[in-house]
Amino acid sequence: MSKRDYYEVLGVGRSASQEEIKKAYRGLARKLHPDVNKEDPAAGEKFKEISEAYEALSDPSRRAEYDQFGHQDPAQGGFGGGGFQGDFGGINDIFDMFFGGGGRARGPARGADLEYGLAIEFKDAAFGLKREIEIPRTETCATCSGSGAKPGTKVDTCSTCRGSGVQEFVTNTPLGRMVNRRTCPTCQGRGKRISTPCADCRGQGTVRRRRKLEVNIPAGVDTGTRIRVSGGGEAGDHGAPPGDLYIVIRVNPHDFFERDGNDIHCEVPITFVQAALGDEITVPTLYGRETVRVPEGTQTGTMFHLRGKGMPRLGNGVSRGDQHVRVIVQTPTKLNERQKELFREMSRQFGEDAHEQSRNFFDRMKSALRGE
Ligand SMILES: [Zn+2]
Ligand SMILES: [Zn+2]
Repeated sequence: MSKRDYYEVLGVGRSASQEEIKKAYRGLARKLHPDVNKEDPAAGEKFKEISEAYEALSDPSRRAEYDQFGHQDPAQGGFGGGGFQGDFGGINDIFDMFFGGGGRARGPARGADLEYGLAIEFKDAAFGLKREIEIPRTETCATCSGSGAKPGTKVDTCSTCRGSGVQEFVTNTPLGRMVNRRTCPTCQGRGKRISTPCADCRGQGTVRRRRKLEVNIPAGVDTGTRIRVSGGGEAGDHGAPPGDLYIVIRVNPHDFFERDGNDIHCEVPITFVQAALGDEITVPTLYGRETVRVPEGTQTGTMFHLRGKGMPRLGNGVSRGDQHVRVIVQTPTKLNERQKELFREMSRQFGEDAHEQSRNFFDRMKSALRGE
């Protein structure tokens, strides 16, 4: 299967900045997260694709490598694959690449990686949490320790592959002598013949079970953050090492706070009078209430900044983003007669001043329309 270009997957140009890549990934992650697309099995695959592309492009050294060499053999990229088997491993890969050989045969393979979508609350993203999750996965059978043989019974070496688990084929090609390998069909790569299969796993060496795991979600995670639990994936074949588990985070939206990277935005209503005369207002933050001084004559939409009251930076633990508070001036709606009279009185006090201001404004607009 040919892999799509990572840049194409994320929909960004090759010269995109780290920030643009992050933004593109976040947007796609929100749309394709397996948690919001339970009905669509294709979404999971797409999500994996964008995650992989992001992982490669967000790491400057891996990105440089990708720009130079394109997609690497996954066996060498640390993402699955069992590593080399013998001296011809590398050539075998080239053979597969050129001739579309039917996959690589390496004897017992490392277990598959698993993904687990976890939705958490906004506050938990800020402070981190411990969560017990339950994952259905394949584990090594405890009874036979993965051998597939009933404990105490005889296990013979496979006669087809003489215990290597691999069959070799030598082919002469225009490029020279190529050695191709495939998993031994007699023993399925385990190199052994079992006379009495283990009853608990029926000779498979692995069993399905729901495993409870306690995971630590660090402070600062965001939607799309992937947390790797080493060895938490599916068991490998016949005692090979397990894959990894990736916990993919989705942060539920908050009623009041909106997140932008490590910064937090919020809007606070203030009254007409507070805006005109100035006041101290109380603003909720993730870390308790803060007082913000609104100066006399504040316009609606004015922003105030609370340094260090934003989200903690992931993996840093010390520094945080900021909180930006936008004040929205509320125009009074239900005035009683007495209040209306006070406003009229105030308007008379403003008198010519206010009229002068609006006349200037309309004059300027007219000039603008005439193109002066
Ligand atoms: Zn067993
Ligand atoms: Zn065999």
